[in-house]
Amino acid sequence: MRTAAENAVKTYQEWAVGVDYREDVYKAIKAFADTHPKLTGEDEKLLKETLRDYRRAGLELPPDQRKEVEELRKELSKLGTDFDSNIMKASAPVMFTKADLDGVPESFLGSPGIKTGDDVYTVTANVTWQFNTVEENAKPEATRKQLYVIRETLAKDTNVSVLNQMLTLRNKIALRLGYKSWDDYQTEVKMAKTGVNAEKYINDLVTGSQPKFDSEVAELQKLKAAETNDPNARIMVWDWRYFSNMRDKKKFAVDKEALRAFFPFQKVLDGMFNVYQNLFGLKFEKIAATNKWIDDLQLYAVTDSGTGEPLGLFYLDMFPREGKFNHFANFEIVGGKLLPEGKYQRPTVALLCNFPPPSGDTPSLMTHQDVETLFHEFGHCLNAIVTRAKYGRFAGTHVPGDFVEAPSQMLQNWVWDKKVLDTFAADYRDPSKKIPPDIVKQMNDAKLANAGVSYRRQFAFASLDLALHDPHPEDMPYDCVAISNPILEKVFLPIDPSTTFVSYFGHLNGYDAGYYGYAWADAIAADMATVFEKARDGYLDKQAGLKLRHEIYEPGDSRDVTASIEKFLGRKQSVQPFLKKIGIAPQDNKKAPAGPPHQGG
Ligand SMILES: [Zn+2]
Repeated sequence: MRTAAENAVKTYQEWAVGVDYREDVYKAIKAFADTHPKLTGEDEKLLKETLRDYRRAGLELPPDQRKEVEELRKELSKLGTDFDSNIMKASAPVMFTKADLDGVPESFLGSPGIKTGDDVYTVTANVTWQFNTVEENAKPEATRKQLYVIRETLAKDTNVSVLNQMLTLRNKIALRLGYKSWDDYQTEVKMAKTGVNAEKYINDLVTGSQPKFDSEVAELQKLKAAETNDPNARIMVWDWRYFSNMRDKKKFAVDKEALRAFFPFQKVLDGMFNVYQNLFGLKFEKIAATNKWIDDLQLYAVTDSGTGEPLGLFYLDMFPREGKFNHFANFEIVGGKLLPEGKYQRPTVALLCNFPPPSGDTPSLMTHQDVETLFHEFGHCLNAIVTRAKYGRFAGTHVPGDFVEAPSQMLQNWVWDKKVLDTFAADYRDPSKKIPPDIVKQMNDAKLANAGVSYRRQFAFASLDLALHDPHPEDMPYDCVAISNPILEKVFLPIDPSTTFVSYFGHLNGYDAGYYGYAWADAIAADMATVFEKARDGYLDKQAGLKLRHEIYEPGDSRDVTASIEKFLGRKQSVQPFLKKIGIAPQDNKKAPAGPPHQGG
């Protein structure tokens, strides 16, 4: 099935690239444009961007060069499919003894499939929640390092070479089309507009966060020095999760493991549904799924709670299984658009997650981070479902890549708010027990205390992604590891030289020269959150929620997103709320990172 599907995807993508090169369609559209039609709004935007995309596909080039670009693109899309499937196929079970896993919670050791023999525990390096639990808790550094090195060398044998070829092709395509680099090509259609703007934004954040990052690492270093009796012990890349967790427990009395008792999966899901239904004026109803690809698949219908208008459907596929997509994401199955006969095709989407499965009598207990991820991903799902854009290319989450994360990143704030948490988070053994207020405060303090490390990690990924797609001589071969590893060390923490982070970094196909968008969107997210923070009911304020639905989700890309953001904010954008959120002291205007607020549109 998998091979058949992969082949079908390759065939489809080759066809899809081919459609862009239909000379007859291009000529018809060009002839129409040459009549200078008087279009407005979404229609005008569609014509303008369609012509722009033809230029970006090479249709304005002489026929032989155009043919070459088409061939390069087809080759690139096939390699991209290989890159993804190599990541999906990469699996690395690692055997440990109980002593190796000293410090790892019993609940983990008792999870299905972990205890595989007499004093044998199998941890699967590619399963994120297993990896994170061990990295956060295993006392022996050798265990943390071993698991880390294995995860960061996944798909090394295949994808290092695939990625090098992809980079060569992207660079060639960009040069043929008259761009200086692939990052210029990719950012042209985004808010950033140029690779230099994106790079400057990230570099300024790297510089701005240096003092905060240094002081956090120094704090972790002290803990490591004490634990190892080695005053010179350094915080390596496999250490930060463990010592951050230790510091959180010591300094903030935040025990991530104990917090899980407040987040049984079904309660969290129902609670999130309530929050979002009220906030956005929606109603979700469970209906029977007729086409199930797994037994516990769930299907819901979404309607407008005021008018009863049907808006769309979403599937939930929540738990891991072998060979499943291993991250958390929302996928569009049917996109929204106005059909020629005047009916609106409402969307169907699927939310794919990998939460810890239930074990025995214990329900699936989520970490707080899992809950945050669910609120984030489900935001994408709603963004897709409530769309009102006339054209598919503008509908739902089809917005510029450096904006698409912003609304979901904003919704992550919800799970750090006592008022929101109290609507659903309760101890599964005694539901009258809510998370104590001082714990919520400590969680927030701990988050701020970790902001330097966690954002620097994100900036490192953004930085290496842009560096891979910088200007590069056409005939010089690529060495993706030699470009990216030093950046990881420079912006984040010392690594093991045998690792090849990029070979397992799925974002490099699809988010290529686009990872900076998370940080870019973060500034917009923090800015948009202020609308709720100032509203009467805070993060539960229905008026602000409806405004988000009407001004951001419904139009999608059918109007310029900068205009939508400003309509939602009721003012121009500002980067200050983001700097405050990550604990960078307010700076004077000259030093403040350039970014979304300074962009035109
Ligand atoms: Zn997202």
